[in-house]
Amino acid sequence: MLKCRDVAEHGSHFLDRKIPWYKLPGWYLHLFICGNCRRFIRHLQTTITVAAGLPRRPAPPEQVASVMTALPTTPTPDAEAPPPRD
Ligand SMILES: [Zn+2]
Repeated sequence: MLKCRDVAEHGSHFLDRKIPWYKLPGWYLHLFICGNCRRFIRHLQTTITVAAGLPRRPAPPEQVASVMTALPTTPTPDAEAPPPRD
């Protein structure tokens, strides 16, 4: 049985139609009986729609330069691959 936690975790996959077909009856049943998750999915859809309509502005050149300066030029020790397992 689908839980509210699953809806919260995978709601964007549901809206993107990436939920496997065999799991959809569980989703629709849960959304039928759970008003909170129906509201969550509706608000998530609204947020996605509004965000998609926002104008896109490129970052100011000085901000890009600031970020590029702050990035390390060589890999840090933390970025190295983990040691092989035995
Ligand atoms: Zn729910």
